[in-house]
Amino acid sequence: MPAAFPSALLGAGRPLALRGAGHSCDGQTVANGELLITYAPDTAAPQMRDLGDGLIEVPAGMSWYGLERYLDRRNRAVLVLPNYLHMSVGGTLSVGGAGIDSVRSGMQIDHVERIQLIDGTGTSRWCSRTDHPELFRFALGGLGTVGLIERAVLRTVPSCRDTHVHRADHATLAELAEHTERIAQRDDIDIYCASLRQGRLSSTTGWRGNGLRRCRDASCTIMSDLPFVGEYHTESIAARFSDQVRLWTDYVMPAGQFAPMLGAVETLLDRAPLKDVHVMLYILIVRRSPDASSFAFAPVGTAPVSIGLGLYTWIDYEPAVISATRHVFRDLLERCCELGGRPYLYGVNDLDGSLAERLYGTDLNRLAQLRSAHQLEHVNAHLPLARAAEQI
Ligand SMILES: Cc1cc2nc3c(=O)[nH]c(=O)nc-3n(C[C@H](O)[C@H](O)[C@H](O)COP(=O)(O)OP(=O)(O)OC[C@H]3O[C@@H](n4cnc5c(N)ncnc54)[C@H](O)[C@@H]3O)c2cc1C
Repeated sequence: MPAAFPSALLGAGRPLALRGAGHSCDGQTVANGELLITYAPDTAAPQMRDLGDGLIEVPAGMSWYGLERYLDRRNRAVLVLPNYLHMSVGGTLSVGGAGIDSVRSGMQIDHVERIQLIDGTGTSRWCSRTDHPELFRFALGGLGTVGLIERAVLRTVPSCRDTHVHRADHATLAELAEHTERIAQRDDIDIYCASLRQGRLSSTTGWRGNGLRRCRDASCTIMSDLPFVGEYHTESIAARFSDQVRLWTDYVMPAGQFAPMLGAVETLLDRAPLKDVHVMLYILIVRRSPDASSFAFAPVGTAPVSIGLGLYTWIDYEPAVISATRHVFRDLLERCCELGGRPYLYGVNDLDGSLAERLYGTDLNRLAQLRSAHQLEHVNAHLPLARAAEQI
């Protein structure tokens, strides 16, 4: 990405969609107008800068894979990694970013010190919790609706090589919900995820360290360099159904409200359309520090602990099934909203003005004002979030 290029493109005022690696759903990074693609891990790598004090400056087009390799050589790590690493740093921070480490360390955006943001006039400014704090709060998790994130300064920590991994199978979704809620109440766990995959219900709990040995738990294994093991697994899931439509969504509930949300999904799994398509469920816990910023559109609300439920479907190109699945998603989004949860906006969410207002309150109106003040009406205007803000 040549330095002058993004500013010139944003400032030109023509309809523009922003794209990282393009792994979000529902045509978010597809445009009728121009497309600005930042994902370029090879050219981004030489631009990374170690700022000292555990801070690292990363171009938006860097991949998490490249960043993790870079940090690994310095015995450092980011606090939260996504489980698939070939996504752009800028794109993931623009949706929020969560992973198995979120049970300990919250969202990826919680560990951003500052971002360089380009607005619709082509003006670039550094935003942080103290400089342009409102733009910072709207940009992280904001899907590029308040400008292009060009660089981010991230906090890092000393890396831990090993992880105690304990796997458990669960007989029913209700049992898994109970187990997940119990884990969400504990603050001594470093990694957690659970899934329903090919009929198998299982959870993974882990503790990190260096030079670990197996403990007495029969299910204990010690895994080294876990991020790199995990990403191959997820990559194979992404690629396996590449000739199908991928309708994915995640609902993020305050802890305590997870069982009813999972129950709502469970009742639909045995009925059309979900019983006829490939479905996977994926569960993460997100524990944030009490002083975490309140990002306007991030999937986590104000609850200190949240539980995310990913509902991932792969569907043949059958318009009726796709439309019926979207209908199911819309009903589930209503249920999520009733239970005090939020959608993860990288996914498929039919967000109209009134639902968006219920979810985001006055921040929706403020988004419209910020887009106008920073001349951003031509940027990512196709997104449901931007359209909902326009309707207010
Ligand atoms: C196989 C797979 C695994 C995944 N695993 C995880 C996971 O573990 N954790 C998780 O949190 N998510 C996960 N996701 C979802 C993923 O976080 C989002 O799809 C994320 O957006 C991916 O980054 P990207 O570079 O592909 O973004 P894109 O899809 O390119 O962009 C996402 C959004 O941000 C905007 N945008 C992109 N770049 C910028 C920028 N530089 N500045 C401003 N706006 C921008 C785009 O317009 C778009 O609205 C996964 C998705 C897939 C397909």
